[in-house]
Amino acid sequence: MGDRPYGDRAMLIDGELVSNADNWITSLNPSTEDELGRVPAASAEDVARAAEAAARAQREWGAMTSRERGERLKALANAIRKRKDEIIALEAADSGNTIANLGNDLFKSSNHYDYFSGLANEIKGDTISGLSSGLHLTERRPFGVVGRIVPFNHPFMFAAANMAAPLVAGNSVILKTPETSPLSATILAELCQEILPAGVVNILSGFGFPAGDAIARHPLIKRIGFTGSVSTGLAIQRAAAETCVKVVTLELGGKNGLIIFPDADVEKAVDAAIAGMNFAWAGQSCGSTSRILAHSSVYATVCTLVREKLAAIRLGDAGDVESQMGPVNSAAQLERINRLISIGKQEANLLIGGDRPAGAEFKRGYWIAPTAFADVSPESAIAREEVFGPVMTILKWDTVEQAIRISNNTEYGLTAALFGSDINTLIRTARRVDAGVININGSKMHYVGAPFGGLKNSGIGEEESLSELLSYTQSTTVHITL
Ligand code: NAD
Repeated sequence: MGDRPYGDRAMLIDGELVSNADNWITSLNPSTEDELGRVPAASAEDVARAAEAAARAQREWGAMTSRERGERLKALANAIRKRKDEIIALEAADSGNTIANLGNDLFKSSNHYDYFSGLANEIKGDTISGLSSGLHLTERRPFGVVGRIVPFNHPFMFAAANMAAPLVAGNSVILKTPETSPLSATILAELCQEILPAGVVNILSGFGFPAGDAIARHPLIKRIGFTGSVSTGLAIQRAAAETCVKVVTLELGGKNGLIIFPDADVEKAVDAAIAGMNFAWAGQSCGSTSRILAHSSVYATVCTLVREKLAAIRLGDAGDVESQMGPVNSAAQLERINRLISIGKQEANLLIGGDRPAGAEFKRGYWIAPTAFADVSPESAIAREEVFGPVMTILKWDTVEQAIRISNNTEYGLTAALFGSDINTLIRTARRVDAGVININGSKMHYVGAPFGGLKNSGIGEEESLSELLSYTQSTTVHITL
């Protein structure tokens, strides 16, 4: 265990907390680079064992009434609430997400169970008339074993919340946690072990290879829900297709545009762009409003406001309640973001940031100051590639046609935001912007009940809504001859 305060942690396979492994992943605090604890790196054999246990456990779990399942899941939600403070403290240390902003993540982690349990009666079919004098109907049933693979940016929230819909629908789950920031989900593993029947939930820590890949390929896992990058989403689709027919839904990246019209309240729009960036996660948010598209008449004002407001963001250790932004998540993230920043420095004008912040407290850890580029060309890499870090770009337009063209000039289609006063222009523009989620005069409206999902390479499928729940069922048609 050495000096690691969180020691060696466990995975959950078939109701057992497993902490013996050939390979381990050591997790570091991104604010300091200090070692926090270790998790086992699951092997393909661990995945196979979990898949067999999950298939066995699902028979009973799927046969329960939705009310019985709902009761177990509400108990899990309550147990998460009870350990909330402990989870938040660990999450801030392990992920770099600021402690002051983690309350909403924990709320969602438990609230998803209440929400989806409450929807259980909506898992229903149709009756179809007029085909014969018989009775014709459809019924929905679970897939069986569901694989969920989650990213590092909200490690506990994604781990907990992403299991709710498949479980309520009667599936068992194999969840793979991210290789950086894997510690908080080990608390979820402990809670699931206490509350749920063995094998219904299996929580594996591990790398993309071999663990994630083995989940994508395992023939007992018939349905995958993935959240992460486009390249991994494509790899999962390919791997899944090599073994058997599976349904794969994908929640992927974004390069989200926020269009400011000449008649907008410019300061409100800039505030919303900065709120939408989610600096509390160092901009590592799929929905971050990382491209401001400002009309030329307000462009200079937007640049001045962005510079002033980014300069005012309080950086500090993610565990300090005063911090508004912590470090980025890992050394790999730091390296990737810095590479894109250096490309940006050649393509555009650096308005602010672009480097490690000054100060002794930022010498260790994965720090990047809040950064913005102005005079960004719509064709440049910094305008089109997802940075997934604290980096904004500001682009200029003159006609609405140009604004729409620039906004759609990426492979992504996750979120968009529009600011202005003329509702007709806003709605007409919204209808032509490629995005699965569009905010008008806002940037962060996102809550369970309203579908969330991307167009184009941002993904397939909708989450956080009835459509997510139903997507974890498949329909059968029954013809009854009378
Ligand atoms: P990533 O794709 O690198 O990793 C995500 C998960 O996939 C990790 O658990 C990883 O171990 C696993 N993985 C890696 N290779 C794999 C493989 N070959 N087979 C199976 N699993 C594999 O993504 P990341 O860096 O952790 O997260 C950042 C990305 O996630 C960004 O692009 C971001 O926009 C996206 N994201 C999207 C949403 C959304 O809701 N649309 C939400 C959060 C993050």
